[in-house]
Amino acid sequence: MPDLGISSKFEIICQISLILFSLRFESIELMYILAHLLKSAGMDVVVLRNGREVISTLQKNLKAQDPCTLCIMDIQMPDMSGYEVAKQIRNSETEIRRLPMIALSSLMERDATKCKEAGFDGFLSKPIRREKLFQMLERILGAKEGEKEEPDIIQPQILTQYSVREEIKHSVRVLLAEDNPVNQKLATLMLTKAGYRTEVAKNGNEAVEKYMANPSDFDLIFMDVQMPEMDGLEATRAIRDKGFDSIPIVAMTAHAMKGDREKCLEAGMDDYITKPIKREIVFDILEKWVFDRGKS
Ligand code: MN
Repeated sequence: MPDLGISSKFEIICQISLILFSLRFESIELMYILAHLLKSAGMDVVVLRNGREVISTLQKNLKAQDPCTLCIMDIQMPDMSGYEVAKQIRNSETEIRRLPMIALSSLMERDATKCKEAGFDGFLSKPIRREKLFQMLERILGAKEGEKEEPDIIQPQILTQYSVREEIKHSVRVLLAEDNPVNQKLATLMLTKAGYRTEVAKNGNEAVEKYMANPSDFDLIFMDVQMPEMDGLEATRAIRDKGFDSIPIVAMTAHAMKGDREKCLEAGMDDYITKPIKREIVFDILEKWVFDRGKS
């Protein structure tokens, strides 16, 4: 698990979170990223796409003695706005009325008052950065925990200072194993420009070393097959042999040779792309192996 710089108290409190999003494409992408971030911190995540399912889901979990600890919701939803959902939660006759809630929107200044009125505890604007998200969760959940002794306490001031400046994807880290300096530069530029954090290894040995030194620092490895000292297949076997089964390893080969794909999969790789690498394909791979895994 990556070191998120959050307290152990926070990790214990935050067993389940619920994320609610609209059907807009932008929101769906954000939902995957948020789910990935929360899961990487050890939380269970329930994703709902419809405002009308929220109350019943919360009540069901409460009944099962497994209450949700946090709700993050998009306030711009088509069928039922986040404000309405929040108000219904706050007006509930059961314990769910105390659920910590965070609103998401791009219209930060304008919506802050409305969010507070609807009963939100915090307010995040897009894009979301890992550190800011966890800082906010820690503050909100920490405060809620302390409040339990005094049920009638007034809502704390809504947190609006968490405007986030950097790309959403800064939380995803890629290890790029590639011996060719030109390909290295191109791939690094492509990935960092898109907001992914990228570390380069120039041969198989270095890839294994860098990954082993900090396995939790990486979400995916792009592995050139042909490299000096240790090739991509050997490096993959070395990583898999040490028991690291879950890190996605994606092969990159110069020629689409017959049987290459099988060789890569046999060595323990998960997927395969041919060079020269193309933007769309690289991003599809990240989508498939990093974000889609975060889906509930
Ligand atoms: Mn090579």
